[in-house]
Amino acid sequence: MIGEKMIAQVIVDVAAKQTDRIFEYNIPTALTDVTVGSRVVVPFGRRKVQGFVVGITDKTEYKGKLKDLLVVVDEMPPLTPELVELSAILAKKIFSYRITILQTMLPRVMKANYRKILTPIDKATAQLDLFSGEPIDLDEVTDLKKIVQIKKLIKTNKAKIEYLVENKAKKKEEFVYQPNLGAHVYPEIKTSLRKNAINQLALITDLIDNIASYPKTGKELQEQLHLNSAILKQAVEKGWLKRTKKETYRDPLAEVDTKNVPKDIVLNKDQENALNEINKAITAKKAQPFLLEGVTGSGKTEVYLHAIQKALASKRNALMLVPEISLTPQMVEQVKARFGSSVAVLHSGLSTGERYDEWRRIRRGEAQVVVGARSAVFAPLQNIGLIIIDEEHESSYKQEDNPRYHARDVALLRSKYHNCPVVLGSATPSLASRARAQKGNYQLLRLTQRANKKALPEVKLVDLKHVEFAGGQFDLSVELVDKIKEKIAKKEQVILLLNRRGFANFMLCRSCGYVMQCPNCDISLTMHKDTGMMECHYCGHKEPIPRKCPKCGETKIRFLGTGTQKVEEELKELIPASKILRMDVDTTRRKGSYKKILDQFGEGKADILLGTQMIAKGLDFPNVTLVGVINADTSLQVPDYNASEKTFDLLTQVSGRAGRADKKGEVMIQTYNPEHYAIQLAQNQDYESFYQKEMVVRHQGNYPPFFYTILISIASKNEQAAAKFAFVVKRKLMEQLHAPTIILGPTPSSIAKIKNQYFYQILVKYKKEDKLIPILHELQDEAQKIKKQGLNVYIDNEPERII
Ligand code: ADP
Ligand code: ZN
Repeated sequence: MIGEKMIAQVIVDVAAKQTDRIFEYNIPTALTDVTVGSRVVVPFGRRKVQGFVVGITDKTEYKGKLKDLLVVVDEMPPLTPELVELSAILAKKIFSYRITILQTMLPRVMKANYRKILTPIDKATAQLDLFSGEPIDLDEVTDLKKIVQIKKLIKTNKAKIEYLVENKAKKKEEFVYQPNLGAHVYPEIKTSLRKNAINQLALITDLIDNIASYPKTGKELQEQLHLNSAILKQAVEKGWLKRTKKETYRDPLAEVDTKNVPKDIVLNKDQENALNEINKAITAKKAQPFLLEGVTGSGKTEVYLHAIQKALASKRNALMLVPEISLTPQMVEQVKARFGSSVAVLHSGLSTGERYDEWRRIRRGEAQVVVGARSAVFAPLQNIGLIIIDEEHESSYKQEDNPRYHARDVALLRSKYHNCPVVLGSATPSLASRARAQKGNYQLLRLTQRANKKALPEVKLVDLKHVEFAGGQFDLSVELVDKIKEKIAKKEQVILLLNRRGFANFMLCRSCGYVMQCPNCDISLTMHKDTGMMECHYCGHKEPIPRKCPKCGETKIRFLGTGTQKVEEELKELIPASKILRMDVDTTRRKGSYKKILDQFGEGKADILLGTQMIAKGLDFPNVTLVGVINADTSLQVPDYNASEKTFDLLTQVSGRAGRADKKGEVMIQTYNPEHYAIQLAQNQDYESFYQKEMVVRHQGNYPPFFYTILISIASKNEQAAAKFAFVVKRKLMEQLHAPTIILGPTPSSIAKIKNQYFYQILVKYKKEDKLIPILHELQDEAQKIKKQGLNVYIDNEPERII
């Protein structure tokens, strides 16, 4: 470093308007190893807080004396200069505080833990019962008497508050054992041992025979010689072995099965063409976005894997995003089989420890390929030569809470920084991406046939208005049930989709008409028969299933509507011999349960896999010859502008699960709307026609991709206050924005109350609007002030949902 006084520019860990700027600190000589991206602890007012160094300079405008940095937290700065720069760009774009984005970039365990500690100042105070010799954690004191006592001690200067910053992230360590004596000594020891000291003999014999294989870990000694820790401890005490600690990684892929993955596939012409274009961009270091549009089963994965190979061969790294990785273990297996230990994974299915370890491997440059879900787009991977986003149309790539970023946008920013291509892959690209390809902003690559030349499955629509239902319920048509029976008789497998979990959507009293609602949300409670509870799917509220109407006390209550639990029960009744696996949020809460269910199904231990949309994507089971959609209308009825697109995507994706290998596939879609274009075009798996048709609809409705959209939501426990402020915002927008910008609302959201808050929203649709962004930044500032009055303002740039 040059210059006399070096100054660190720090973003502090306080998410507020007033602190959303750079603070400067003097770098003391002891801490000159601090760099851009370091995590530091700094004095901030009376407190100590954590922060991130975003710049180092020798100039300051500040006239007073700068305070010193206190601590540099990590040996290696957790953030790269690229990510630091990215946080600034992104904060502006998505109306978030920069610190919030910096935090999002790190594994959650690295978030600082702040503790308020009360320490006695004099001896007499230290001896009070309150302390019992130790400082106390103020956040744990709840007793009112104690609180009064503490206040008094602080006032009279007998005790002081200290603020501690703690880090929760723990490295995993294990013991490693090595010989502590010369090799010639061990035979002597052996002769001195008693014959019945079996364990000691085993250890000494191993030290004599295999001394070169040491050091060994405790785990290895346990596995090889069945030595427990007590015996090893003894051996250390006797001076035979030396014990040290070694840092290890928790490996989430340790159990991934990679033996069944085909490794040598010859690409077909379409794949070859697509790969060539991508490879060219990798070699030329060009930040080119590609849209890889390929029907289900067209072998997009194979193109990804070859492109990753190319990036690695060019001495560059690759980042691959998948929608929710725990749903697609099959994808991880393939990547792992191909690239072995150079792969790191990041997703919500990992334990916090595993996630932290994988993240550190990436940060240290020990992983060359990263596969992960949404937040993996922030992986601290350097020297990126390729970014892939599989199933790019998936709405899970957009984070619904603050910071509301879209992984695709972040990927495009990173590709510009690294000068590398981005490949967006899908059988049903988002309209936005497909339109960009139309305009030439993305290069369109198409795979038009299934890779193994198998025909796409035959899709039949079943019109629920004119069918005979099997059993006493209105869920399964006789036609679908017969088809399922036929497949099971042939020892083939069936996937059934019903995008609704639980048993029944609502409870209705036939006597008084009462419907059981969530007390916190404007939505009816779903009946869950297995847990005996009525549950709210928005806030998690639960109460026991009533036996009589809570309002009128009559017993004439009915549970209406359907869900996966109910259909499972019906199937068991209609086809008693069938073995069914159910996969929905309720059966997959435990870590590893997705994989377990999918493995069982893959091993043929069940005939039917019944589930919500989590079974629609990416699964490749050769023995599945029938896909049934129990109700295609669930997503169509959602009152959102993109309901048709979501429905088309879901039906096309799930249909693609049928007949992927030698046996021909069939699909049956049950619907009350067989004439709807989204359903008809999904029947033909005709994405291009759907795209053309839907673009016309969007154009007429002034919706994306013809307009950009920003959704402003105002929420409050007080409905009037929310509505009133929403109108204030609307007036301000009206004053400053002009046609062709369209301002809709304020209207109550379609679920007007969630978690006891009333939501009012305004939708701004615009093409080019210079004034909008500054106004919204003003609104963001104001939001901070009115938060104290119980008003919450959310600004969502390009929302996935507008309901
Ligand atoms: P997509 O992701 O496009 O739905 P996949 O990548 O899952 O399709 O490929 C579907 C199947 O086709 C897989 O079983 C894969 O191994 C196989 N496959 C891919 N490319 C080829 C090829 N060139 N020749 C033969 N089989 C292929
Ligand atoms: Zn609720």
